[in-house]
Amino acid sequence: MFFAIGINDKEEQLEYEEGLMNCEACGSYGRYNVFMICTVFYFFFIPLFRWNYRYFVETSCCHTVYQLNDEVGMAIENGERIIIRPKDLTLIRKGNGSKVCSRCGCTTNEDFEYCPKCGNRFK
Ligand SMILES: [Zn+2]
Ligand SMILES: [Zn+2]
Repeated sequence: MFFAIGINDKEEQLEYEEGLMNCEACGSYGRYNVFMICTVFYFFFIPLFRWNYRYFVETSCCHTVYQLNDEVGMAIENGERIIIRPKDLTLIRKGNGSKVCSRCGCTTNEDFEYCPKCGNRFK
């Protein structure tokens, strides 16, 4: 049986050339790589609908991943020259294997199962 109809997540890297930034996560200089992910509905291999657009940023220095504000993401996708500010970013995953506590926000590089500050269990 062969299915020509499907739903897939599509990831695309967006052009973002605003030079170096001082990384808040690791303190060194890096660049932002901006990604767009959307869900695509295919009908006989033709992408009919796209929805559920999400924008992400990964730093080149330590591979920390942030969710990017939708409006800023859309502006970059439309080719506008816009500078990503820390307030547009929501931390998802710290690079270099460090963990972020979802309760108190502290970070650790150790391989702890529980937060050393508040005892919250890391996921
Ligand atoms: Zn960094
Ligand atoms: Zn904590």
